[in-house]
Amino acid sequence: MPPPVREAMARQIVSHRSDDFRRIVGRITSRLIAHFECAEKPLLFTASGTGGMEAAIANTIPRGQRILAVQVGAFGERFADIARAHGAHVIDMRISYGRAAEPDELRKAIRRAYPINAVLLTHNETSTGVLNPLAELARVVREESEALVIVDAISSVGAVPLRMEQWGIDVVVTVTQKALMSPPGIAIIGVSKRALDVAAKPFNTSYYFNFIEMRRALADDTTTFTPAVTTLFALDIALKIIEHEGIENVWKRHRQLAESCRKGLAALGLRCFTERGAESPTVSAFVVPAPWTATAIRQQLEREHNVFVSQGRKEWKEKIIRIGHMGYVTQLDIDDVVSAVAQTMGGRHIRDREPQRVNAAE
Ligand SMILES: *Cc1c(COP(=O)(O)O)cnc(C)c1O
Repeated sequence: MPPPVREAMARQIVSHRSDDFRRIVGRITSRLIAHFECAEKPLLFTASGTGGMEAAIANTIPRGQRILAVQVGAFGERFADIARAHGAHVIDMRISYGRAAEPDELRKAIRRAYPINAVLLTHNETSTGVLNPLAELARVVREESEALVIVDAISSVGAVPLRMEQWGIDVVVTVTQKALMSPPGIAIIGVSKRALDVAAKPFNTSYYFNFIEMRRALADDTTTFTPAVTTLFALDIALKIIEHEGIENVWKRHRQLAESCRKGLAALGLRCFTERGAESPTVSAFVVPAPWTATAIRQQLEREHNVFVSQGRKEWKEKIIRIGHMGYVTQLDIDDVVSAVAQTMGGRHIRDREPQRVNAAE
């Protein structure tokens, strides 16, 4: 988190019904509109991202409804599991790890699954470093069906453009602690008019996570219940910093840093796990060459360089390393990480390439 965001968290707590706090909530929701490009104020629920995903399902998918869950990795699978837990009839569309979902594949899957009431999509699949072509995927859903388009954009909002209105998206879930460079605590949900019409129906038994009630409260710049006040202090400042840098500049910085990260790793002879063209602007995944294990690399980076990276999920646990570069990240951070990887793996990585040292001063 940037220093001013951390400082905002040291403030005395105020009543969440005070005028002071209403001004903060008002600023936050109006600034968030630029990140969702939506017509409605985004909703603020006190929860982590997964809570937001559950809220999205609970408010828009009646039990027994047929939905298509597009899964390109672990977080897409989680979304499908949540829908199943809520009694949806889930039809799975699974894509192998490292690949993005293709619009034509989705079109075929929708035709096979038809009729369907909703499609679950992941904008940026953090577990594999894949950015799905969300605009194209949403367009296919709208061309082929009346289904709601429900998107986990937890690791993309704040780093990658997302245009709810223009792309015809109904529900977008994100969270404070990823590219919005704030502490965890608030799930942010963009909703379309269509999604709100569904959420207003009697099947919706959500109480704490009720979209309609939260929308009513936010019309008065307040939340239904006591929110994570400190997290909102921090988010207020983080959104101001992003606005100051310019949201387009922030998107561009993420693209450039991701490219720089991938280039740095490629120069070390490491292979990108993600298929070409689908690489995420917020997380880069590389293949761990034998005889290394991902655990050994992760531990050494943490112990010797104070660099924290992630491993793969499930069967990919020892086979890939993931480097996050979202939010408060600069070129210096990328240089540090690539240089730490070079020092850690130096000489013992893929043998058919001459090892090259990364010059951190470049
Ligand atoms: C981090 C993440 C989540 C989970 O969020 P929590 O805040 O840990 O519940 C879900 N989906 C994606 C794509 C994520 O990156």
